[in-house]
Amino acid sequence: MFSYVSNTEALSDVLRLSRGMTYKSALAGIALGGGKSVIIGNPHQDKSRQLLLAMGEFINSLSGTYITAEDSGTGVADMAIMGEKTPYVTGVVTGEEHGGDPSPITAYGVYQGIVASVAHQFKSNLQGVRIAMQGIGNVGYHLARQLISAGATVYAADINPANIQRAVNQLGVIEVPLDDIMSIDVDVLAPCALGGAINADSIDMIKAKVVAGAANNQLATVDMGLALKERGILYAPDYVINSGGIIDVYYQTKGIRDRKKVDAHVERIGDTLKTIFTRSDQTGHATSGIADQLAEEILAGDVQEMSA
Ligand code: NAD
Repeated sequence: MFSYVSNTEALSDVLRLSRGMTYKSALAGIALGGGKSVIIGNPHQDKSRQLLLAMGEFINSLSGTYITAEDSGTGVADMAIMGEKTPYVTGVVTGEEHGGDPSPITAYGVYQGIVASVAHQFKSNLQGVRIAMQGIGNVGYHLARQLISAGATVYAADINPANIQRAVNQLGVIEVPLDDIMSIDVDVLAPCALGGAINADSIDMIKAKVVAGAANNQLATVDMGLALKERGILYAPDYVINSGGIIDVYYQTKGIRDRKKVDAHVERIGDTLKTIFTRSDQTGHATSGIADQLAEEILAGDVQEMSA
């Protein structure tokens, strides 16, 4: 849900997002993708029970060809209201380890992706590795906890003082000023806030040799993928590394609540990244381009699903 200025802008965004879901699902080895929905409106002002019920009715009219889940501007409570009108809603289960808030499982996938990226770039584990996180909200908090448990030192900046304080007090994260987080001398930069973190202004500030984080659309423009590679920076494509949430949703749609199965599937994110990194090394192409290429090959049936 977002305050789009026009129907055209909303349509263009939903097409971009649905393409993204398709590619993400292909590389995650799950039979989802092809659709996405947007609601035009300010989530802080225009959201009402009637609106969410209407959305639920609309989704129900598609008879299960489209299944929704929470995303930017919506949350678990909104999904529960839509769920009064349709069974084709996920992310409404509470009181179970999988279902409801997807952030912990997304963070687990990003953690696996950082482990694989560090192994490829530095031939090491996370012990003593310095990681800078831009944004330490829902995903970032769970991610930082796992990184610190594995022996990494985590630096973070967040525009929300409560979120950074929680991470400093509870996890031992080291606070960094907002303006310094992209340029701090670390091994890994993990964008975990909004999209567009890697852009023409920020790219030459980055000292990290790995960029791997949860945020969607980390590259402001397509050419940033190659720009990172030319600077010797290994980039874990965003939609590959942050696919833990959609993998969890897939198991929810199948009615499978076996945590071990979901975790094992999410752990394969590391293997998918390894395949992408190796092909990037062999061809000289950007990892972001390789990910798109692999997804297209999977969708065309040229290769088996990555993780199936
Ligand atoms: P969130 O809103 O809980 O956390 C984002 C954090 O970034 C917040 O604490 C916010 O204050 C902070 N932030 C915003 N702008 C900032 C800036 N300019 N500098 C520093 N900090 C800033 O969101 P989340 O659920 O943790 O998701 C983080 C990112 O991961 C988003 O891009 C989201 O689209 C993506 N993602 C999330 C999931 C999921 O399961 N939640 C799944 C896939 C992708």
